[in-house]
Amino acid sequence: MSETQASPMFQRIALIGIGLIGSSISHAARRAGLAGTIVGCSPRSETREKAEKLGLVSASYEHASDAVRDADLVLLCSPVGTYAAIAEAIGPHLKAGTIVSDVGSVKASVVRDVSPHIPQGVHFIAGHPIAGTEQSGPEAGFAELFDGRWCILTPEADSDRLALAKLESFWRKLGSQVEIMTPEHHDLVLAITSHVPHLIAYNIVNTAAHLERVTDSEVIKFSAGGFRDFTRIASSDPIMWRDVFLNNRDAVLEMLGRFSEDLVTLQRAIRFGDGETLERMFAESRDIRRGIIQAGQDTAAPNFGRGSPTKS
Ligand code: NAP
Repeated sequence: MSETQASPMFQRIALIGIGLIGSSISHAARRAGLAGTIVGCSPRSETREKAEKLGLVSASYEHASDAVRDADLVLLCSPVGTYAAIAEAIGPHLKAGTIVSDVGSVKASVVRDVSPHIPQGVHFIAGHPIAGTEQSGPEAGFAELFDGRWCILTPEADSDRLALAKLESFWRKLGSQVEIMTPEHHDLVLAITSHVPHLIAYNIVNTAAHLERVTDSEVIKFSAGGFRDFTRIASSDPIMWRDVFLNNRDAVLEMLGRFSEDLVTLQRAIRFGDGETLERMFAESRDIRRGIIQAGQDTAAPNFGRGSPTKS
């Protein structure tokens, strides 16, 4: 990898986890010349070898405590269930002035798990790029992943303002737009926009798999009718999503309750032949889709599963 730039934003970035998100950060940070050196940590030697071979990191370590030495930016990019142990292990090895952040898909539990291990003089500000695909691993990343997407930062009331400004600028230079909110609000918003949709996808694929009067080959053969899109989302990493649901329990249960109520409304409309209700609810949904396209978060182009990587 090239390690240039007279005065990059960070001298040494440590990526704890070099999967889809960690590798995409490496690509985008090198594209923008934001780092003197990027190093990484991954428990499996296979991942470390791939990351070095792909030029994502100039050195990689099995243990996070070795990777963070001398880093001025540490980014936790592993499943959120690993954060408490990682924070405990790296705490004593962080130098004063370092910014510690993360990319985890939930935020309140991350603040709860990581903050107690961050020493005085080190700045922890949690974050979540709303960008991803159903792919995993160091080969899945690409520099454009964050372009035009949102990154949510969830500072606490006493977070260092300069560190926050620097982290905000980092994400903008990676291509993102940045929004600030509380961890609790983040978890509620993401429960309905990301977590519950993934749960529904996992569930519908499992339901289809368990049908006795429809064969597996029919499910695959005729999957173009909407089901195929669910299978794409449901192929996302099982460990990452296990940790999301274990760590955003309350918000997910709240949103699932509302979802179930709306589902019963649709169920009743179908049972009683209430076409007016069905049409009204479907029209409202179409308006939301149009809003997403107008906001530049997707295109109106039909997607037949071909072309560039799909975002979840
Ligand atoms: P991924 O592709 O599966 O990569 C996970 C990485 O974490 C791998 O390098 C893995 O290493 C490493 N890892 C696992 N346990 C670790 C530990 N104890 N210490 C250090 N590294 C460890 O996952 P991802 O999609 O990049 O997701 C990473 C994080 O980003 C998650 O917290 C997720 O919630 C968040 N996120 C994901 C998306 C998405 O769409 N995928 C979007 C936004 C945010 P090995 O290969 O060596 O096991």
